Amino acid sequence: MDNQTSNFIKEIMIKDLESGKHKTIVTRFPPEPNGYLHIGHAKSIVLNFSLADDFNGSTNLRFDDTNPVKEDIEFVNSIKEDVKWLGYEWENLCFASNYFDEMYKRAVLLINKGLAYVDDLSADEIREYRGTLTEPGKESPFRNRTVEDNLELFERMRNGEFANGEKVLRAKIDMSSPNINLRDPVIYRISHSTHHNTGDKWCIYPMYTFAHPLEDAIEGVTHSICTIEFEDQRPFYNWVVEHCEMESTPQQIEFGRLNLTNTVTSKRKLKQLVEEGYVDGWDDPRMPTISGMRRRGFTPESIRSFIKETAVSKHNATVDFEMLEHFVREDLKLKAPRTMGVINPLKVVITNYPEGQIELLDAEINPENPEMGMRKIPFSREIYIEQDDFMENPPKKYFRLFPGNEVRLKHAYFIKCEEIVKDANGNVVELRCTYDPQTKSGTGFTGRKVKGTIHWVEATHAVPAEFRLYEPLILDDTEDENDEGKTFLDKVNPNSLEIHQGFVEPNMKESMPNDKFQFFRHGYFNVDPRLTTVEKLVFNRIVSLKSSFKI
Ligand code: ATP
Ligand code: MG
Repeated sequence: MDNQTSNFIKEIMIKDLESGKHKTIVTRFPPEPNGYLHIGHAKSIVLNFSLADDFNGSTNLRFDDTNPVKEDIEFVNSIKEDVKWLGYEWENLCFASNYFDEMYKRAVLLINKGLAYVDDLSADEIREYRGTLTEPGKESPFRNRTVEDNLELFERMRNGEFANGEKVLRAKIDMSSPNINLRDPVIYRISHSTHHNTGDKWCIYPMYTFAHPLEDAIEGVTHSICTIEFEDQRPFYNWVVEHCEMESTPQQIEFGRLNLTNTVTSKRKLKQLVEEGYVDGWDDPRMPTISGMRRRGFTPESIRSFIKETAVSKHNATVDFEMLEHFVREDLKLKAPRTMGVINPLKVVITNYPEGQIELLDAEINPENPEMGMRKIPFSREIYIEQDDFMENPPKKYFRLFPGNEVRLKHAYFIKCEEIVKDANGNVVELRCTYDPQTKSGTGFTGRKVKGTIHWVEATHAVPAEFRLYEPLILDDTEDENDEGKTFLDKVNPNSLEIHQGFVEPNMKESMPNDKFQFFRHGYFNVDPRLTTVEKLVFNRIVSLKSSFKI
């Protein structure tokens, strides 16, 4: 049973349906379109969509676009694509900005009820007047303006008569509330900026904490699931729904954020990595964005299974990145064809193999999934092996190729290293080997045993390929910014990307962007959709084969 088969949020939903509080379940995923989605968002997506789905309810995709300066249509489009790719269909596509008229009306209602006022204090003064956890706040000298004055000033704010920051609209609640969020929070601010959706229609924008409950109520959301840092906002959330006289009453429920080791899960920081050139865009395969993970080769199934395995609780949790890797290996194990790729090639000439002869060897496409059938691998007098699979002066227990030693070529024959060819600088540039025709793979040869098996690619048909191998982008385990004045940028791994050239089997020529393979001994790879050209395939390593992680 995964952690979402039963969790505390689901329990609440069951009770609400049983008691008749709600007839159906409506949830929403409410990203702010100010960046690309990351693996943390996947948790919220999976939670919202799968919980509603469990009860035949529905889920809206809602853009929380109340902050025009940071938001952009590029982000709207990428978020839509990512949610779909993860495998979810939203009921309605909503924009908070579509409700600006409605929100304005509700703010006017609050003014009319004596529950909101226009304040002339500056942002700094408002902060100062707010008090602290131990001291009550102070009332603004503008707090007791008449309803008429407030209505007029608010309209003039809307009409653009004031500069940014000159005035705000505040809820009138309680300046000495033990909950600081209830000390007359700002609900509207002036921002003379163009909005990606409403253009220049508005120069005042609702604050997130005022807008969000209204959005939920307008859409008839029954359970508004958000992360734990909003717990202290819940009283204000309920205040807004009640005093704005919303017909439907959503319930805010908080859960703990998902963090991963060696991973940044904050849009602000991810944006910094992009803008300061640490990575090659939001979809760089090292990024924990959904688009980066897609390009790296993670599958939607693996991400969903991973998320479902993480606990739904009231506490933020940091999960080992290896757990995610475990799920992608599990998913690809039966799906990904096996093949051989030679990284950093070294030419081998098999001197006793007939010149001009090409032999087609048979191999299973995936021994763990025989239904995938068989493939043909050409073999001839010239092949490539990996430089790392040869040593001129090997240490003890080196079982790969060295002068005089014999190894098995996967799917083919035993070869023995007879001679080394070096260039003028003394670098090994070619090996001359002999093969034993009796040792052909699959013939049941039992004559001799060898300890090493290496992979190879036939040289005349080999397809050039680039291999991109990744290390974690962030070296430290945690996201803690505060140790010794360091920022997360100090923890960026300078060696997070290694690029190697090599060759793959000829049948790989037909592979398409985002096709996934398991390269013998190297792990799972994805055909990079951006860098692959007609001349050269580019492979991103998704994950290596081995992991210490046990689930
Ligand atoms: P960030 O700090 O990365 O910008 P955010 O919470 O500000 O994250 P939103 O666009 O507001 O980003 O997020 C949309 C939804 O995704 C919210 O409901 C938010 O709580 C949820 N979410 C964001 N990050 C995580 C995370 N690490 N774990 C679980 N849920 C998350
Ligand atoms: Mg945010």
